Amino acid sequence: METCPSAPFDHVKADVILRSADGVEFRVFKLFLSLASPFFETLFELPQAPERASDQEMKDGLAVIAMSEDSKTLDSFLRFCYPSTLAEDPSLENLTDVLSVLAAARKYSLDLIERKVCQALANPKVLETDPLRCFAIARNARLKHETITAARHTLRQPLIPAWFADIELITASDLLSLLTYHKQCGIAVRALTKDFKWITDHYRSQTGCNWLFGPYYDGSCYCGQTPDGKFYLWDTHPVTWWTTYMQEVSELLADRPSGDLVRKEAETTIQKVRSGNCAACSNRVKEVMTEFSDLFAQKIEEAVSPIELQMDF
Ligand SMILES: [Zn+2]
Repeated sequence: METCPSAPFDHVKADVILRSADGVEFRVFKLFLSLASPFFETLFELPQAPERASDQEMKDGLAVIAMSEDSKTLDSFLRFCYPSTLAEDPSLENLTDVLSVLAAARKYSLDLIERKVCQALANPKVLETDPLRCFAIARNARLKHETITAARHTLRQPLIPAWFADIELITASDLLSLLTYHKQCGIAVRALTKDFKWITDHYRSQTGCNWLFGPYYDGSCYCGQTPDGKFYLWDTHPVTWWTTYMQEVSELLADRPSGDLVRKEAETTIQKVRSGNCAACSNRVKEVMTEFSDLFAQKIEEAVSPIELQMDF
């Protein structure tokens, strides 16, 4: 049986010994544990009554406290209690390991671990690139706010996800809740591509957005209009490239109902129009489509925000 802990839990000046369930003796400093956990603070503050002291197992002049956690869990757990100069903050790569100590952390009122897990899951870059994995970890750790935030970010991904890392951390009913949420968001967003009141309310009149009707208002625009009965504003057909953008985005939104999608697709449209041969549209497309896609994205956020993830925490 391995009974020697790794550094820094073998320090000769340590003032207490924690013995794991599998017999490893961690020589630690009371101060670090007391600062990290009210549980340990109280434990170490207990007066050492004479009769209690005689019961107390001692080794090398130090009290030995028997813990129910195994040495692997205890090792990770103690590293969190120690100052950050001795223990790194977790990245998503080692978050899964952290989950095993989260239960111990809660038992010993060690809020720090939970805070660090939350911090790692709140990283916007991580949420954007790995939302499903964040969802799985947050759900497994029963972190309500982080689970909901991650679920919102999964809307950037297709409704039916491909396999993702840490999928085994969630149950089939967790996944079903996520799929239902995603689908409901898609339905809520669909209204925006059927009824354009949000566009006419925003621009108020055709003159408020005459770029949309270039061929109509501007003799120098040669982009043409597409007579699509769905995309029709103030009884006029908008410019072809905008109609094409809306046709494509409407289809994609059902699968990925996120503001991010309409912004990204707008970027593609801007590139296309700029490389086309209409000087009038080429000059203004970036400004007008950035504004339009920001408005669209905002309306999407508004449409999905009342949709709740049905899940007990
Ligand atoms: Zn044009």
